Amino acid sequence: MPALFVSHGSPMIVLDESPARAFLESLGPDLPRPTAILVITAHFEATEPTLTTAAKPAMIYDFGGFPEPLYRMTYPAPGGPDLAAKAAGLLRDAGFSPRVDPSRGLDHGTWTPLKLMYPAADIPVVQLSVQPHRDARWHFALGQALAPLRGEGVLIIGSGALTHDLRAFFGRRAQVASSPEENAEAFATWMADAIETGRVDDVLEWETRAPAALQNHPTPEHVLPLFVAMGAGGPSRRRIHRSMAFSDPIESDRGSSLLFERIF
Ligand code: ZN
Repeated sequence: MPALFVSHGSPMIVLDESPARAFLESLGPDLPRPTAILVITAHFEATEPTLTTAAKPAMIYDFGGFPEPLYRMTYPAPGGPDLAAKAAGLLRDAGFSPRVDPSRGLDHGTWTPLKLMYPAADIPVVQLSVQPHRDARWHFALGQALAPLRGEGVLIIGSGALTHDLRAFFGRRAQVASSPEENAEAFATWMADAIETGRVDDVLEWETRAPAALQNHPTPEHVLPLFVAMGAGGPSRRRIHRSMAFSDPIESDRGSSLLFERIF
């Protein structure tokens, strides 16, 4: 089973037609059917790696100002307490201090891509938090610790955003030399190239080596799932989709993406 990184984009991805939506809809059937899914989601932040253990996870509508049909959507996939326990064991063996959260439901970093990839919602889903005070190398090691789960048919998905320039998004960077689109293109191209050519150290030192790094990620939570997916996956890495989209800032939540891409 591969490990994936997906840019989940705005929650509108499940309502509006877009290249990214069409890609996600085709991706699920293209992959071997997973026994369970582990999503490292940018919208779940914790001080220690935390796994969800609810047997029937509730919905979290963690966005504001969107059309009403989005708030009626459900994704009634079962939870995976067994997978959570197994993942916690692997993390503990690798020196992490995992926690569990028995009450947390599915945030939109998890349910919007899964609704497109696996609309039947019949595969157990567990979420794992990001730790924004930890760096890329730490999250890469977290992924490496989880890699054995792939051998048991578990699909590991990092769900975030390859570019996430929310300062530009909310108009606070009006006077800049390069546009948000140029910054996003430069960053995404550099990162995809570094990943595909195996420059792991460059990727993990992204804050100082990637162009427009901090413009694209003023806060790191949306890029951290990328490093977990990289650590969990095999050495052969490639970009499997590329598209960008703007969202309407009026209808944005803190976590939705200005521009998004996805890489394998
Ligand atoms: Zn988000």
